[in-house]
Amino acid sequence: MTNTYKRVLLKLSGEALMGDLAYGIDPTIVQSIAEEVSSVVQHGIQIAIVVGGGNIFRGIRGSAAGMDRATADYVGMLATAMNAITLQDAIERNGTPTRVQTAITMQEVAEPYIRRRAIRHLEKNRVVIFGAGSGNPFFTTDTTAALRAAEIGADVVFKGTKVDGVYDSDPKVNPDAKRFNSLTYGHVLAHDLKVMDGTAIALCKDNNIPIMVFDLSVPGNIRRAVMGESIGTIVGE
Ligand code: UDP
Repeated sequence: MTNTYKRVLLKLSGEALMGDLAYGIDPTIVQSIAEEVSSVVQHGIQIAIVVGGGNIFRGIRGSAAGMDRATADYVGMLATAMNAITLQDAIERNGTPTRVQTAITMQEVAEPYIRRRAIRHLEKNRVVIFGAGSGNPFFTTDTTAALRAAEIGADVVFKGTKVDGVYDSDPKVNPDAKRFNSLTYGHVLAHDLKVMDGTAIALCKDNNIPIMVFDLSVPGNIRRAVMGESIGTIVGE
């Protein structure tokens, strides 16, 4: 397997783990992600994962229902930790060692986030799963993905979604919508394209980390993305 990337940060939204369910985690989807991650790691590629929590709880929704926003965000961060531990279980059942590191300490179930330790795990070919977001309310796991990618020196952020890239209009509404093969950070920010939130894009831009947006539900796509195949939209300089 010839590959372009050596160390990747894979951002999995909570919804990616939900499949067709209305809420929660679909074990079949988690298993297939785990298989793909394991096969890529077995080819010597280092993978760190930031997982979202939108399949369980979103702070913004809690605050719209009257909850204090910061408190609601902490609940959202705890939701991501549940996803992280679930993913860990599935990846390890596929024979690949993992470590979960959380930005809010919960030492009975996960390591605390320690940057140098995370890098050491990656060097030993362990998958590192980052839970509890950035540990700060008012942020998202997209921004966490950009932050952790910069911290661990990742070559790229893989943003797995339900569509095969970024379009000039909604492909579900407009059958003539055109998919971009590549985009600049500036274009994404200026046109408010829904790749990742603006803070995440700006952080990737400042640190010159490309973002690959691709359809996670197509089997084999994580491997294709690692090999540098153009299966989606790449955002860069
Ligand atoms: N969250 C937060 N700070 C962070 C990351 C996440 O407060 O650094 C909270 C926030 O409430 C968010 C929830 O955790 O709604 C779940 O994360 P996110 O919405 O990013 O998950 P995704 O959309 O990827 O499933």
